[in-house]
Amino acid sequence: MSRIVYVNGDYLPEEEAKVSVFDRGFLMADAVYEVTSVIGGKLIDFDGHFTRLCRSLSELEMDNPTDRDALLAIHRELLARNGVVDGLVYLQVSRGVADRDFAYPEDAAPSMVLFTQTKQLADSPAAKKGLRVITIPDQRWARRDIKTVQLLYPSMGKMAAKKAGADDAWMVEDGHVTEGTSNNAYIVKGGRIITRHLGNEILAGITRAAVLRFAREAQMELEERAFTPDEARAADEAFVTSATTFVTPVIEIDGVALGDGTPGPVARRLREIYLDESLKTAV
Ligand code: PMP
Repeated sequence: MSRIVYVNGDYLPEEEAKVSVFDRGFLMADAVYEVTSVIGGKLIDFDGHFTRLCRSLSELEMDNPTDRDALLAIHRELLARNGVVDGLVYLQVSRGVADRDFAYPEDAAPSMVLFTQTKQLADSPAAKKGLRVITIPDQRWARRDIKTVQLLYPSMGKMAAKKAGADDAWMVEDGHVTEGTSNNAYIVKGGRIITRHLGNEILAGITRAAVLRFAREAQMELEERAFTPDEARAADEAFVTSATTFVTPVIEIDGVALGDGTPGPVARRLREIYLDESLKTAV
C-alpha cells in the first residue's frame, strides 16, 4: 500500500519521493522534525508544534520554508490524500543540499518532507497495561531543547530497554532523570506531580505543556524540578507524555513495581483530561 508523501512542494507516491544524497539531513543530521498526532481526522496541538518548529529552526539559523497556514494546508492535504483518520503526521526540515562541509552552506534552500502513519493512538494497549522502564546514562548532546533528527542514542536506549525486557528507558545525568528516549518523564508522590524543569537538558514537550496546564486547572499539586532515580523507584506512580502516546502510565522502574504495579489514578485521570481537552482545540 503506497502512501502519498510531500517533498518540497510535490505530493508523490512514496516510491517516487526522493531526497539527494547530499542533503545535510542525511550527511550531518542537520535537520529538525515534528510529529503531530491525528484523532478523528483532526490535528492535536498543531500550533504548539508549529511554534516549536520555528524555534528549532531559529536556534540552528536555518531558513523557515513555510508559514503556519501553508503548513496546516499541507498537513490537511496529506491526511485527505491518504485517508488518515487516526495516526500522525511526521514533518522534517533539513538545511538542504550542499557539497559536504562542516560550515553551513550560504545558499542552500531548506528541504521539507512530510508523511503520514495510520495508528490507533487513543486506544493503545500500553496505556492500559502501563510501561516498564529502565534507567540508563544520558549520553546525548547538550542541546536537547532543539528537536533534531540526531536520534541514534535514543534508539540505543530503546534497544537497551528491549534487551532488558522493558519497554523504554529514562535517561539520567548528574544523578537526575532528564527524560525518556522519546517522551517527558513524571513521578507522583503523595499526590504531587513532579517533572523536570525546562532547560537545554530536555525537549520542551508540547504534550508536557498541555498536561501541566490541565493539571493546574484541575488544582493538582505540581513541582517542576529534577528528581533522582531513587525517588522515582520510591514513587507512588509515574508516567510519560508525548504527542503520540499522550499520557502513558509507567508501572515499573528498574524492576521495582510502583504502588500496586498497575497504572496509577493520577496518570489515568490526566490521560482522560488530556484527550478530552486537546480534542477541543484540535484543527
Ligand atoms: N522528549 C523527547 C526526547 C522526545 O523525543 C519527545 C517526543 N518527540 C518528547 C520529549 C515529547 O515531546 P512532545 O510532547 O512534543 O511529543
